[in-house]
Amino acid sequence: MSWSMRLFTVRGIPVRVHASFLLILVWAAFIGFSDRGRNSALGSVAFMLIFTVLLFVCVVLHELGHSLVAQQFGVKVHDITLWPIGGVARLANLPKRPSAEFIITAAGPLVNLVLAVLFGLAAVAVISPERLLNLAATGRGWFRLIASQNLASLLVLLTIQNLLLAVFNLLPAFPLDGGRLLRSFLAALLPFRTATRAASFVGQGLAVVLVGLSFLPPGNFFLAVVGAFVFIGAWQERSQVMTLERLARFTVRDAMQPVGRQLHPDEGLADVARQIAANPQTVFLVAGEPVAIITREGLLKAARKAAPDATVGQLARRDFAQVSPHTELEIAQASFGPDGAVVVVEEGVIVGLLSRADIARLDAAHEVLGS
Ligand SMILES: [Zn+2]
Repeated sequence: MSWSMRLFTVRGIPVRVHASFLLILVWAAFIGFSDRGRNSALGSVAFMLIFTVLLFVCVVLHELGHSLVAQQFGVKVHDITLWPIGGVARLANLPKRPSAEFIITAAGPLVNLVLAVLFGLAAVAVISPERLLNLAATGRGWFRLIASQNLASLLVLLTIQNLLLAVFNLLPAFPLDGGRLLRSFLAALLPFRTATRAASFVGQGLAVVLVGLSFLPPGNFFLAVVGAFVFIGAWQERSQVMTLERLARFTVRDAMQPVGRQLHPDEGLADVARQIAANPQTVFLVAGEPVAIITREGLLKAARKAAPDATVGQLARRDFAQVSPHTELEIAQASFGPDGAVVVVEEGVIVGLLSRADIARLDAAHEVLGS
């Protein structure tokens, strides 16, 4: 079972929500219930739920900001997933040009700034400028306004939250947008690899600070989680770039596997799963017009829960990309489908298959050899 559910699709980009997102809604309802003040319990819970959902709509718009601009640069966007901690847009490959990376990255926080202005203007319209000026001048009454849980407080909260989202995402720490902006700045001056290393170390330093701050009384669990997330994200980004650098010298021919055992669309999933148990192939070609592919991982995963009469043909993918044996590995990798595989074609003939696992195997060997 996949733990995420598709909500809708924008320009071919599926927007999903992860099951753990429910936790945030439960938490919001709990906060609404326990901090209801003089409001009714039901009204307070409903307010918190509406606020949380709208906040995550803003998060989706932020990710769509990145994604739609990325599409303009010809970058394929796999999907956007909402997690309790925020949204993640999976881009196939970021352009190496620092200026393109900068524009794609800046688009996200820019969306939040625009939203903050729009919500702010709506708040002014609803609350009236005189009262807002009065609030600003005296500094009192803000708490009462926000605690009142009506349209005015909703608009003020969304304005503040969008400002916070923009500022938080601009922290110069991978994998936050600020970290990417820093990298694109540095990459205009330094080699890409050095720029990534520098930006990622800055990110990890900041992550340590965040975790340290989370221990200050009364303690902030959320900050600790974000710190850990940033620390790991920075490390992943660095190792990904190192991998890309190591692979830069190789072409598809160096990593691909031969076509090997081919499957027939009518073969039963369970049968095939048994037969390939000892077969090291990571992708299989499925004969037919047109041909299709299926990965070992996808096949085994599907076989576990498939109906007894399920066949390979029902599962195989026909919309795979084709690469040449001379294609650079990095470019081939960018054309991988969601299952991480492509077909290698030379002069109209299928000569092999390439999967994420093949690249990982090649990289692991060269990492050890240090070459
Ligand atoms: Zn972003």
